[in-house]
Amino acid sequence: MPSWPIGKDVPYSALCEVFDEVSETRSRLLILKYMTRFFVDIIRHNPQELVYAVYLSLNRLGPEYEGKELGLGESILLKAIAQSTGREVKMLKADLQRLGDLGEVAVLSRGKQRTMFKPKPLTLRHVFKTLSELASITGSSSQAKKVDKINSLLVGCTDNQAKYLIRSCAGKLRIGLAEQTILPSLAQAFTIAEQKNNKLPSEEKLVRHIEIVKQVFSELPNYDRLIEAMLTHGVANLAEHCELTPGIPLKPMLAHPTKSLTEVLDRFENMMFTCEYKYDGERAQIHRTPAGQSFVYSRNSENLSQKYPDILSRIASFSAKDADGNPKAKSFVLDCEAVAWDRQAGKILPFQVLSTRKRKNTTDEEIAVQVCVFAFDLLYLNGEALTRKTLRERRALLYEHFEAQDGRFAFAVHSEGSNVNDIQEFLDASIVDACEGLMVKTLDRDASYEPSRRSRNWLKVKKDYLSGVGDSLDLVVIGGYIGKGKRTGWYGGYLLACYDEESEAYQAICKVGTGFSEENLKLFSETLQSHIISGPRSYYEWTDHPLVRPDVWFEPKLVFEIKAADLSLSPVHKAAYGHIDSEKGISLRFPRFLRLRDDKAPEQATNATQVADLFRAQNRHGDDKDKD
Ligand code: ATP
Repeated sequence: MPSWPIGKDVPYSALCEVFDEVSETRSRLLILKYMTRFFVDIIRHNPQELVYAVYLSLNRLGPEYEGKELGLGESILLKAIAQSTGREVKMLKADLQRLGDLGEVAVLSRGKQRTMFKPKPLTLRHVFKTLSELASITGSSSQAKKVDKINSLLVGCTDNQAKYLIRSCAGKLRIGLAEQTILPSLAQAFTIAEQKNNKLPSEEKLVRHIEIVKQVFSELPNYDRLIEAMLTHGVANLAEHCELTPGIPLKPMLAHPTKSLTEVLDRFENMMFTCEYKYDGERAQIHRTPAGQSFVYSRNSENLSQKYPDILSRIASFSAKDADGNPKAKSFVLDCEAVAWDRQAGKILPFQVLSTRKRKNTTDEEIAVQVCVFAFDLLYLNGEALTRKTLRERRALLYEHFEAQDGRFAFAVHSEGSNVNDIQEFLDASIVDACEGLMVKTLDRDASYEPSRRSRNWLKVKKDYLSGVGDSLDLVVIGGYIGKGKRTGWYGGYLLACYDEESEAYQAICKVGTGFSEENLKLFSETLQSHIISGPRSYYEWTDHPLVRPDVWFEPKLVFEIKAADLSLSPVHKAAYGHIDSEKGISLRFPRFLRLRDDKAPEQATNATQVADLFRAQNRHGDDKDKD
């Protein structure tokens, strides 16, 4: 039985009660159980509202790639809480400093307020729709309109609903509910709700259904489509009704870092593999739909069509022509790297040049930095998903259906050499050709395309890191140090953190002050001005030590790629705390800024497990540096 009256809309309170349960445990199994139970009730009694429950649990307002999201700043939320509760912003700020969480401040403030009438209960549908309207408010007096909208919801909140509502508005729920839990919960809930005889499904059936849903979602990351298909067709045959679709970006396959060529050969012993140049640009997933629409998506499923109108206008011409002059590839999805290109010299330019390209509203005429697209995979072709084919098969189709165009479209250079000397030579050639190193991939066995997976069937070998840390780290800026001398007026250094997915916390890992150009220091100082917060968030893990304490705190916003000499155990930094040593975290020695990773969200930064893995790998391979 659901906790709400049958025949009535699902109340927001029902979701908040589940959130309370979820936030009280760290057990994935229990969280899975709570979410499954909630979804079963909705599937049985209010199936049309399941999609709202899922999006609100994920804190999203639609598919990720549509980019419709809330991430309202502290000041606007403080204003809304002040207006709806009659408290002064000054007092709210003091509470925020103490509690570190705006959601808690909202609950505290609502608790202090006397109300004459019991508010009409909020429903899931109403909250979702109002938040969606809130996200689309733009233009003049938008701030006042947004405050009004938030208020209209806040007055309907009872108990601790205001906590979750304000956190949703800020863009993060922070209750330990990961997307990886939502999918299995949905799969289980549908399987249970589908049972005819009220018996629980077998464990084996649940596991099978979870795999089906995960696989389908990794190719078609759209909850509206997924839920609709599950409601209509059930889980068992889902794959027949939900397939990779041009126009909907899939999460790209990712690679594992390696520190030595011997490590590559050990991993791929007795397997056929291929080495490709690792181009140093921006990942571009290129889509062409059967209706003739084109899209360019980032690593992060962000629509880059405004940034690359030049690529967009060329996409139709990438296909080879048949004997009648018609394109062989009518609809397709290509996995590529967009790289800055010097048209005069006919060669690749460094990533730094690409990063000067404007992100939005670029017109074809004003493009200063030209790009060439290097295709390394083909995931969909003429009505068929190719992800389950081997790389050898996909590559053959790529070469058969597409045609290189001088300086505009090319195939990733590859070589099938299989001993250390061959690979070393190819690695050297990649560096001469202005690439970052190599990607080494399985060709036949275990060679399907694994969307969203960091797979051991793709290894990255970066020349720079062969004798260093093995890979760079992508770290989140959480604090700043006021610059002195030549850096007066800017931040001269930053406190960086990795992300711990388990606790949803940012864990301080090091300070960085080198590797920045003057332009960067200026740009970052300006960008971060609007992300200053009054104190560290409750989900920042750091030690209050003179070597660490920053002058200013920031919301998690910017991600820096950092290179370091090595990783070391640290009594003051908190990264990967408990992974290697129960008392110590991990820090970076001699960190240096490499570049801004604006294609990564803070939650996609290097996570605590990866930091611990890099630390272990460094110690394991420390001795065989000379072998390569
Ligand atoms: P992460 O650090 O999380 O692995 P990343 O985007 O930083 O992600 P990189 O270390 O840069 O990953 O290595 C993988 C990236 O290399 C791909 O996302 C892609 O953008 C780029 N790349 C360049 N050439 C190739 C290639 N031939 N095959 C696959 N990826 C390539």
